[in-house]
Amino acid sequence: MHGSGAVPKVVAKNPLVEIDGDEMTRVIWAMVKEHLIEPFVEIQLERYDLFLPERDRTDDQVTVQAAEAVRRHGVGVKCATITPDAARVKEYNLKKAWPSPNGTLRAILDGTVFRKPIVVKNVPPMVRAWKKPITIGRHAYGDVYRDVEMAIPGPGRVELVYHPSDGGPAHSVRVHDFKGAGVAMAMHNLEASIRSFARSCMGYALDERTDVWFGAKDTISKTYHAAFKAIFQSEYEARKADFEKAGITYSYLLIDDAVARAVRHPGGFLWACMNYDGDVLSDMLASGFGSLGLMTSVLVSPDGKFEYEAAHGTVQRHYYEHQKGRPTSTNSTATIFAWSGALGKRGELDGTPELTEFARKLEESVIETIESGAVTKDLAAIAEPKVEDYVSTEGFIKAIAERLRAKVGAGAAAR
Ligand code: NAP
Ligand code: MG
Repeated sequence: MHGSGAVPKVVAKNPLVEIDGDEMTRVIWAMVKEHLIEPFVEIQLERYDLFLPERDRTDDQVTVQAAEAVRRHGVGVKCATITPDAARVKEYNLKKAWPSPNGTLRAILDGTVFRKPIVVKNVPPMVRAWKKPITIGRHAYGDVYRDVEMAIPGPGRVELVYHPSDGGPAHSVRVHDFKGAGVAMAMHNLEASIRSFARSCMGYALDERTDVWFGAKDTISKTYHAAFKAIFQSEYEARKADFEKAGITYSYLLIDDAVARAVRHPGGFLWACMNYDGDVLSDMLASGFGSLGLMTSVLVSPDGKFEYEAAHGTVQRHYYEHQKGRPTSTNSTATIFAWSGALGKRGELDGTPELTEFARKLEESVIETIESGAVTKDLAAIAEPKVEDYVSTEGFIKAIAERLRAKVGAGAAAR
């Protein structure tokens, strides 16, 4: 089927941290490596297997080691992983419900998660105005994800109290005088974390040359949200000259105004979101742009470490079909873009433009394959024109490999 044998491999200077995972994405992972990476690139892969049984065997130490490896080498690529719940503990006979690997990675790398849809011509966004991708920058620490909550059984006073460590006087505010039953919660964030979030967003926008929006609700939350707004403003001012040079802008918007504007906007900007807003809006954007299989995700730490992955999970239902020996049609686009993102960044950091060029050709091959009408089931129904005969999981990857081989071969012949 494919052309005349081996093409010369691109050689990477430094290792890439490879973090393998679970279920259908693990199946895809092996195929992507076999057909799209190994034949073309010579790179040392420092591999950590976060396959659930391995996390259980190592008491989750493998997750910590993977995060430390990304710290050390600067770039990692991660497969989707199961975050175990009670059903998974039973299914895999686990010692316990280990925490979310992504939570552990974020805690160690301390960064911001950027999620960007991949735009292809034959999968039009649901929102007519959207022409270019909208990237979400989600703060990955605190707020409701680190809150404490209390059920209030009946009448009584709830207060929030701060005891300074230096022994100064305590400071308290009344939350509410309950006349009956209710609920209460307290959440927090950290100046250092908010600042690194803002800094990562400014850095990402300058790298990608896109405008930045930050949305919050400081009119209502005059201390908490206002702190985010003030820190963003100060980090923007620190980079203002760079923004002007790059021809990009920073805007603060009330979050409801940001939402209303976003659906009327042609796109092509970075939307910095507080943790909860980012959680909700990235799912809205992913389906608005077409499919979960077309959403990429990268965790960027404030000191410039990068961990690339697909935004979706392990596609469990497809995996059970695969295990029964039935054909599957799972979209591997976001997983492939995790690899191309990581290889491209490796090339950029190491000064090996031929590696970055390979990553670009890989992405081009994926997009051209989809635009040629060779699509998986998730896209077949929403593609324009509609596709009757969708391809299998493996068929899709092999079609990409064929295009890539032609592209890389043509490049090599021209040299
Ligand atoms: P999911 O794996 O993202 O899948 C949800 C549904 O979306 C699938 O059943 C499938 O729909 C569709 N889908 C997602 N990715 C697709 C792709 N590449 N190609 C085609 N269709 C795709 O989410 P989940 O089912 O909620 O979670 C499964 C497991 O993944 C859980 O154990 C969860 O903990 C884990 N998870 C991991 C990550 C991560 O590692 N980053 C993120 C989220 C979830 P149809 O079944 O209708 O075809
Ligand atoms: Mg979500």
